[in-house]
Amino acid sequence: GVNFKRLLRKNWLLIATVVSVLLGIILGIVVREYASLSHLHKQYFGFPGEILMRMLKLIILPLIISSMITGVAALDSEVSGKIGLRAVIYYFSTTIIAVILGIILVMTIKPGVSQEAEHIDRTGTTPNVTTVDTLLDLLRNMFPENLVQACFQQYKTKRKELEPMKVSVNTTTIPPLTTAIMAAVENITKDYKIIGSYSDGINVLGLIVFCVAFGLVIGKMGAKGRILLEFFDALNEATMKLVQIIMCYMPVGILFLIAAKIIEVEDWEIFRKMGLYMVTVLSGLAIHATICLPLIFFIIVRKNPFTFTLGMAQALVTALMISSSSATLPVTFRCAEENNRIDKRITRFVLPVGATINMDGTALYEAVAAIFIAQLNDFNLDVGQIVTISITATVASIGAAGVPNAGLVTMVIVLTAVGLPASDVTLIVAVDWLLDRFRTMINVLGDAYGAGIVQKLSKRELERMDLISDVDVANPF
Ligand code: ASP
Repeated sequence: GVNFKRLLRKNWLLIATVVSVLLGIILGIVVREYASLSHLHKQYFGFPGEILMRMLKLIILPLIISSMITGVAALDSEVSGKIGLRAVIYYFSTTIIAVILGIILVMTIKPGVSQEAEHIDRTGTTPNVTTVDTLLDLLRNMFPENLVQACFQQYKTKRKELEPMKVSVNTTTIPPLTTAIMAAVENITKDYKIIGSYSDGINVLGLIVFCVAFGLVIGKMGAKGRILLEFFDALNEATMKLVQIIMCYMPVGILFLIAAKIIEVEDWEIFRKMGLYMVTVLSGLAIHATICLPLIFFIIVRKNPFTFTLGMAQALVTALMISSSSATLPVTFRCAEENNRIDKRITRFVLPVGATINMDGTALYEAVAAIFIAQLNDFNLDVGQIVTISITATVASIGAAGVPNAGLVTMVIVLTAVGLPASDVTLIVAVDWLLDRFRTMINVLGDAYGAGIVQKLSKRELERMDLISDVDVANPF
């Protein structure tokens, strides 16, 4: 009785989400069968879901800015010396490996591509834009010339059809000031249309580059930098509170998003595609956990990686059950220190920092999901866009907190970065409760392997520390 109540209270959001997915499916099927809605009414029906998507997109800007700046600045004070540097190198390289693995899998399995041979290519770029142009655009996006503009515009070379920027708002209903601002913006951007034009969407990449640089500088500034750091820290906390509030609305939004999607569905192939998508993500996670990570571990540590995995079993099961690497942390600690005999000085740094920034599973998942959505929309990704997806998926996994479904929120960042419809997150939401568990498990496993590897690499430093402390104890003078 008591236990059941506590379980309910602790997991109400998870339960509400699963229930709303089920209700959404039922509602969708019922409405589809018994009411023939006009196009307009279908749109009205999806309105609560539309609001959810708008809120998720709204939070991107403060989320990127506050979490990147505080994350990078904190890294500087926490990554003390060689041990920290090794951990960070490990985090980055394994995350990149996971992303590349995910991209290779999703491009070969092609879960989102229709079986019928014929489909229209809706590429963002015109055919006469070369690969070099694309890569140059990538670099241009990394260095926006105007920070404010980067918040709503992305650079994209377009040699032909230099059509004027479309303003899709009805200008008669908006106040004159807004019109004036929009006119001014159009004037500013007009010049650039000679060499290129802008696709809409936040320039996520540009903002990230700026925030990383800014965070690094703040971290090194000392006392003066601390004021700024505290400001962004507070901004980050406030943003997270907002995310929490949005999460409370999520079950309602999801219910209508899914119901509306089902009413809309014309080809039932989508279920085949969703199944394949899940297989892609799960097999990617499995390969990463049983081949990539163990191989790296074996090369460096020269011990049986699977014995090590077995030692982590309890933490892995916990992660699978509660889908949160942060909440699993106490169990991760115990397994690593007691079963796998990892030095406390290593775990103390590698595990908690890893739980927040090292998420191989999440990175793999984000890359697969973004390309899956591109495939669903017959959207041909060019080299630059694939590179952008790899970078943003990595960053999104770093930015995601170690809590349930965090990867789903940062997913919107990846989609926005390459101009994919964020509304397709709906499809992904429906199965996230399952995939979230498995990717969290891989996130935790990655942190644990990191502790083992960093310990091996830092053997000399640890021994020297032992020596110093022995001397200290024996003879303090
Ligand atoms: N739930 C994951 C974790 O805690 C984060 C995510 O949603 O990808 O590691």
